[in-house]
Amino acid sequence: MAKIFCVANQKGGVGKTTTTVNLAAGLAKVGQRVLMVDLDPQGNATMGSGIDKRRLELSLYDVLLESASISEARVRSEKCGYDVLGANRELAGAEVELVDIERRERRLKTALAQVQDQYDFVLIDCPPSLSMLTLNGLCAAHGVVVPMQCEYFALEGLTDLVNTIKQVHANLNPDLAIIGLLRVMFDPRITLQQQVSDQLKSHFGDKVFNTVIPRNVRLAEAPSYGLPGVVFDPAAKGALAYVEFAREMVERIKTLP
Ligand code: ADP
Ligand code: MG
Repeated sequence: MAKIFCVANQKGGVGKTTTTVNLAAGLAKVGQRVLMVDLDPQGNATMGSGIDKRRLELSLYDVLLESASISEARVRSEKCGYDVLGANRELAGAEVELVDIERRERRLKTALAQVQDQYDFVLIDCPPSLSMLTLNGLCAAHGVVVPMQCEYFALEGLTDLVNTIKQVHANLNPDLAIIGLLRVMFDPRITLQQQVSDQLKSHFGDKVFNTVIPRNVRLAEAPSYGLPGVVFDPAAKGALAYVEFAREMVERIKTLP
């Protein structure tokens, strides 16, 4: 049975999509069966997995409106080695169309139940907001992976996210937990980043992943080739770090209930 994880942080530009596609590619590389779900209408994770969002015949939108199943809507990214449930601008409309529907926050969970035995990991790339879309992700997940930059305001943003997750845990999904905080775009030469990183560790202990993702330009270049960095330049520092993170996740899920 797949373990389902949201990659979430209310802030934009913190590395959610980069983490989702590179973790997916890293997990595939170490032999895991992976479904990547793009929950952001911007469709960056879809494009970044080599799937053209403008040409999707079916997408997450159709799944949330129950006009298609995941088996029908997913596509295989051969280059990346994982399946993609893609998204494009259409998905923004789902928010409005779901408003009057009962149990609307559980649509993704219900749909995933049908394919969960076909994967080891389902990774959900969340948009930078607490919308009905994100709520669908949080309701479906066993845990949340939180990518964060070690900057001053990062800790402040984290309080909001932790509170949101507590609320979802209490009211909608008792399985939900923060699996871990992932330090991304890290530059050890910057003293402030070291300080925030130390603060994070003393505050959150082993909730902070051991792996640190460095700032690495190859990771930023990869999306323009429609590939995760792990596939685009496997020898680059950033790619190696994400594969190491994939191994850490494989170990971490063994400790989950
Ligand atoms: P989000 O999904 O949270 O909005 P993205 O993953 O799109 O964030 O990342 C924001 C920007 O930072 C993108 O241009 C991406 O290529 C770049 N980026 C992400 N991680 C790294 C990294 N480790 N090193 C260098 N650039 C990165
Ligand atoms: Mg994103």
